[in-house]
Amino acid sequence: MLEQYLVRPHPQSGFAPRDNRLGLSVRHTPRQNRLLAALPAENYERLLPHLELVPLPLGWAVYEAGTKMNYLYFPTCGILSRIHVTKDGAPTGISIAGNDGLIGVALIMGGDTSARRVVVHSAGYAYRLRADVLKREFERGGTLQQLLLRYAQALITQMAQTAVCNRHHSVVQQLCRWLLLNLDRSPSNELTMTQELIATMLGVRREGVTEAAGHLQKAGLIQYRRGHITVLDRSKLETLACECYAVVKEEFERLLPDQTAVDIPFKIRTARSCARQTKILAA
Ligand SMILES: [Zn+2]
Repeated sequence: MLEQYLVRPHPQSGFAPRDNRLGLSVRHTPRQNRLLAALPAENYERLLPHLELVPLPLGWAVYEAGTKMNYLYFPTCGILSRIHVTKDGAPTGISIAGNDGLIGVALIMGGDTSARRVVVHSAGYAYRLRADVLKREFERGGTLQQLLLRYAQALITQMAQTAVCNRHHSVVQQLCRWLLLNLDRSPSNELTMTQELIATMLGVRREGVTEAAGHLQKAGLIQYRRGHITVLDRSKLETLACECYAVVKEEFERLLPDQTAVDIPFKIRTARSCARQTKILAA
């Protein structure tokens, strides 16, 4: 079928042997990304020959701040963080993107360099598109242009709400928001992330995260064990989170309805496939 591509290993990642084995058993489709899934057939088929599947190994810096962006990335599974690093080296997470979005939004806003560092914090895969192909398609106008601009608007909301949250809400509330944002972009209720990573993303001290995670674990909401978090009670997590999570989620759903949800068997297959791939890449 036109939509289905076998895995092609990333030329610079060093993950080729394992991905070749994986490629024999796992099929991918760009439609696993919500933005690509929302494209009409005409736009989608024009992009398809230019979409290249690449693995997102844990910790890979897709872009450093100030570097030229040659590609736009559409994750199908895995999660990436946009991180701002101050002059004295202190990092803070600004926003995240999974299969609900893309990396390289500056390319559609007229820039060609990354304003921030972008790092894979949950391993997975993405389809990448050359910047010149994107710009050509974007200038045609129509659905692709509208969709990407709506994503940019949703992303601005996420960034603005992160700033509000960091200023006004407790570490427990921030941790709940962070876990829920990741959960929405994960194929299961298990998240692989260290407390150090969470502290970096929230811009707080690690001791604060340890205390907040302990509080959630004691209340039976999560189970934390050596870099693995299992969310046991999502609804209570939502109750404890500040309003920032709901504001961001509602804005994404308003601007970017999930077209992959229409086909439930497809969504289940995608979730299982992503869970398997994520475990292999993170191992
Ligand atoms: Zn908040």
